[in-house]
Amino acid sequence: MANHSVDLLVIGAGSGGVRAARIAAGYGASVMIAEEYRVGGTCVIRGCVPKKLLVYASRFADDFEDAAGYGWTVGEPAFNWKTLIANKDREIARLELAYTTNLERSKVKLVKSRAVLEDANTARLLATGESVRAKHILIATGAAPHLGAKIAGLEHVISSNEAFHLDDLPKRILIQGGGYIAVEFAGIFNGLGSEVTLVYRGDNILRGFDDDVREHLRGEMERRGIRIITKRIVEAVEKVEHGLCVDLPDHESFTVDRVMFATGRKPNVNGLGLEKAGVALGKDGGIAVDAYSQTSVANVYAVGDVTNRVNLTPVAIREGHAFADTVFGGKPTPVDHSNVPTAVFSEPELGVIGLTEAQACAQLARVDVYKTSFRPMKMTLAGRDTRCFFKLIVDGETDRVVGCHIVGPDAGEMIQLVGIAVKMQATKADFDATMAVHPTAAEELVTLREKAYSRVREAAE
Ligand SMILES: Cc1cc2nc3c(=O)[nH]c(=O)nc-3n(C[C@H](O)[C@H](O)[C@H](O)COP(=O)(O)OP(=O)(O)OC[C@H]3O[C@@H](n4cnc5c(N)ncnc54)[C@H](O)[C@@H]3O)c2cc1C
Repeated sequence: MANHSVDLLVIGAGSGGVRAARIAAGYGASVMIAEEYRVGGTCVIRGCVPKKLLVYASRFADDFEDAAGYGWTVGEPAFNWKTLIANKDREIARLELAYTTNLERSKVKLVKSRAVLEDANTARLLATGESVRAKHILIATGAAPHLGAKIAGLEHVISSNEAFHLDDLPKRILIQGGGYIAVEFAGIFNGLGSEVTLVYRGDNILRGFDDDVREHLRGEMERRGIRIITKRIVEAVEKVEHGLCVDLPDHESFTVDRVMFATGRKPNVNGLGLEKAGVALGKDGGIAVDAYSQTSVANVYAVGDVTNRVNLTPVAIREGHAFADTVFGGKPTPVDHSNVPTAVFSEPELGVIGLTEAQACAQLARVDVYKTSFRPMKMTLAGRDTRCFFKLIVDGETDRVVGCHIVGPDAGEMIQLVGIAVKMQATKADFDATMAVHPTAAEELVTLREKAYSRVREAAE
């Protein structure tokens, strides 16, 4: 006999799980949510939110410097890492409490325990040993950092999880990885005053992003003093008297205070009892689901990073909501994963939606490319040598804007709005017909008159 019986058991109180639980409870379902760590999940506790707070902190360095060109005299700025981390932790605790309160208000029963499946309708709460019988189970267990192959000294390497809780700001840090988390932390530590080296095994950072964007961002990061080493990987890390000695191929080695690997994340499926429930995995190690987030077992669903689809908070939230609408609201709702706008909070920032030039060329018969690079107005009096980059990818046959790529201040804010236009299938003519907002950087989006070039696919023989 089970200790609890509910309509829905949600495993994982992160972005997707919390949304799904609240919406399902709103439809009248009895809902329990199990969380083994902290309510809010990766985004709130050790992802988007603390990361963005650190990004804000790191950007003050430029502001202090740039103010001089605008007539300000600023005293010698001093930064205190411990203050930042303590304030950040206080804000995260506030958010965690808000999430918990919202679950309680929604009449969702929260249990602080790891939950594992025993069959397709039963889970065990490891903290108490109790069992839960559920008509439906939603797996929303997220993902965790993956440090890659075992190398000597891996125990000295931190992931993004630990980077949020370091005792001191490292004077020298080596970050391995070329994805968005690696470049964001490179920008954070660089802005806060650390000497940063980024090591990446590929030939350029941000694989999967538009090549012009990758090139532009790399140039800007290097201009800011970040050393970027590509086509190399860390072979060993050794503790030495004044830090950590890092070995790269060809006998190159250097000493830093911290080594962080941002080498990818793996879906949290281990030890979850998926095999007992009969839940199948996909090729990439995530739980295989259909457009409604239903797994291979009819009453078991999965949303968010554990499904390894588009691993972003708003996507996990949308999937969680759609699941609840589908199963408890009587409104079958598939999730559309196309044209998801996204930002990388590097320095400078990046905002993208839609196809890269290479993707567009692979899919479309004719592609028109519009692009520009310029020095933002604010940088003129500041005397800072940095450039924005804007690129529009247009379907040459329909005139639809199928991709937009922005590098520069507030790119994340801009791409959210461009995202609506692209999702509505706006054409380049619609962009051109929109009056510019002057003087802004964003006006470049509607004043890009000169086509840079067209790429026409050769007719098949
Ligand atoms: C450093 C970093 C920065 C990021 N920045 C951004 C960003 O700027 N924008 C953005 O959109 N996304 C960002 N992300 C990604 C975003 O955080 C994730 O896509 C999102 O949190 C996924 O939500 P989720 O619900 O799938 O999982 P999570 O939020 O990870 O929640 C899963 C929860 O399940 C719990 N759990 C796991 N197993 C069990 C179990 N067996 N029993 C009970 N509980 C369990 C975990 O403790 C966790 O709380 C970032 C991620 C990282 C790591």
